[in-house]
Amino acid sequence: MEFIQPGSLAEALGAKAASPHAVPIAGGTDVMVELNFARQRPEALLDLTRVSELNGWRSENGMLRVGAGVTYAELTGERGSSSAHGLSRRLPGLAIAARTVGSPQIRNRGTIGGNLGSASPAGDCHPSLLAADAEVEAVSVRGSRLIPVGEFFTGVKRNTLASDELIAAVWIPAPSGPEQFAKIGTRNAMVIAVAAFALALHPARRAVGTGIGSAGPTPLRASQAEAFLAAALEDAGLWDSRGELPESVVTEFGALVSAAARPIDDVRGTAAYRRHALAVLARRTLTWAWAEYRERDAGQGWAEAGA
Ligand SMILES: Cc1cc2nc3c(=O)[nH]c(=O)nc-3n(C[C@H](O)[C@H](O)[C@H](O)COP(=O)(O)OP(=O)(O)OC[C@H]3O[C@@H](n4cnc5c(N)ncnc54)[C@H](O)[C@@H]3O)c2cc1C
Repeated sequence: MEFIQPGSLAEALGAKAASPHAVPIAGGTDVMVELNFARQRPEALLDLTRVSELNGWRSENGMLRVGAGVTYAELTGERGSSSAHGLSRRLPGLAIAARTVGSPQIRNRGTIGGNLGSASPAGDCHPSLLAADAEVEAVSVRGSRLIPVGEFFTGVKRNTLASDELIAAVWIPAPSGPEQFAKIGTRNAMVIAVAAFALALHPARRAVGTGIGSAGPTPLRASQAEAFLAAALEDAGLWDSRGELPESVVTEFGALVSAAARPIDDVRGTAAYRRHALAVLARRTLTWAWAEYRERDAGQGWAEAGA
């Protein structure tokens, strides 16, 4: 097996164009499992760990650009400089999701780019990225393009990247409201989610974002649930009053999220259980997010997140 080790993004893109079958490897927490179990035997591995352009994050025009090489430990603030703590504060939904990933070892190695590259329906970053309306920056020697996360996943463990493309970064609008994530597994840690759900309230544009994990061939949005909740908040003037959320709204939101799932029966759970769990997760995350929205002073918003 050839091992290609570029020292810059330009070199990495040149290598990917010259050897489109080379498998990129970042943290290796998915790739090495595939190799160890002989599920794949690529002709070449393209090591991205020396490509410094994939590291780090910055804020730009109200967006956060998170490099593909950013690890879970950096997303949670467990590791890295004080700016990493800033990242977990700026992207709370993704930080909550990252905290649920694997073990400290996996969180130290595993990257957001690798999670997207694997495109597992159970990938824990995906629901939060969907809820936040994130975009994937794909690069190649031909140039770069932005792919809305909702269009990035094309099937079970499949994504829309061309064979000469790499993920450079993820662009995430700075949140203007609370974000939540919750997942259910067969134990508390080191577990693939049986079902996961992310919620983002976007008061600045009076919108709601959702993401469903592990309950369909790809991560999914619950579009009807989003539209229902945004309209219910608007019609009752709740975005401004920050009043109590009617129980009927919470219940209907849960039912619509459950209905949006496309689950199957598998070793981790039945389709019926996943639907039930998603309704619970949706109600729970909405209750948490709304309580946070109500508690936080209207003047002391989320705007600093993009600063
Ligand atoms: C014990 C264990 C526990 C785990 N727990 C969880 C969990 O709780 N939640 C969860 O979501 N995942 C979990 N995982 C899976 C894995 O850790 C994540 O998917 C992680 O984000 C993969 O990142 P990586 O950097 O290690 O990717 P790699 O293994 O290096 O790569 C993964 C895939 O992405 C591609 N890739 C990587 N970087 C790029 C790039 N820049 N451009 C294009 N393609 C790229 C690779 O070619 C490969 O197809 C677990 C894995 C293990 C072994």
